[in-house]
Amino acid sequence: MNLIFMGPPGAGKGTQAKLFAKTYGIPQISTGDILRQAVKEGTPLGKKAQIYLEKGELVPDEIMIGIIKDRLQEVDCQKGWLMDGFPRTIWQAVALDEILRQRGLHLDAVINIYLQEEELIRRVSGRRVCRNCGETFHVIFNPPLQEGVCDKCGGPLYQREDDKEETVRKRLEVYRARTKPLIEYYWEKSALISIDGGARTIEDVFKSIRDAIFSKIKKEG
Ligand code: ADP
Ligand code: ADP
Ligand code: ZN
Repeated sequence: MNLIFMGPPGAGKGTQAKLFAKTYGIPQISTGDILRQAVKEGTPLGKKAQIYLEKGELVPDEIMIGIIKDRLQEVDCQKGWLMDGFPRTIWQAVALDEILRQRGLHLDAVINIYLQEEELIRRVSGRRVCRNCGETFHVIFNPPLQEGVCDKCGGPLYQREDDKEETVRKRLEVYRARTKPLIEYYWEKSALISIDGGARTIEDVFKSIRDAIFSKIKKEG
């Protein structure tokens, strides 16, 4: 199964992608996680990426396409993969198509999670991430058992610098201008599945994603 999870910041891509990947035993490729890890380790990629992350801007396409090319070569991707946060521009999508074509791979579905803007802001403002394992929580909607501590690994939770309101608004603007056009791009390729990510529990959203993916795959044989 080769899948893409798409949507504006805060829609629930990461949460759903983690659940889906774990349930079906395929790797979750989160470009946001890869970039944040590189920043944390202070690698050359991290030093370059940090400037863009802080401003809520997109990291240049050439860098992102390079990351995805390398990641897809790793052995765990042979059984399929789930991309979360890539592609984010038309040019990234075109490059991905070419990579898949060269490697004889097929995209099974693109899940587009949509949500109203006020709700996105509410989700992002309360988001807390584990510094150690990357698990995501929400102070109200999905709180950890113990405040400030990761349920999964006991690591400390923090608020992402780019989740502060001003940067969130910038990221939403960037989403509208650069990423939203991908909805039409994948619609025309008959790959798109749209899912309402709002006013429902994480489990409810998960069920609709799962059902939609499997009925699409079944229909297409
Ligand atoms: P994205 O990866 O699209 O930016 P996340 O998966 O990180 O979004 O989710 C954003 C925030 O909303 C997180 O704090 C997460 O715990 C919370 N969240 C995710 N799904 C739901 C949901 N269905 N209901 C309420 N809160 C949610
Ligand atoms: P969110 O889940 O809130 O949508 P991500 O964790 O996916 O955020 O991404 C965080 C930041 O990492 C983005 O604002 C952007 O700066 C950078 N980034 C992640 N993926 C990409 C990509 N495919 N292209 C360019 N920049 C990216
Ligand atoms: Zn953790």
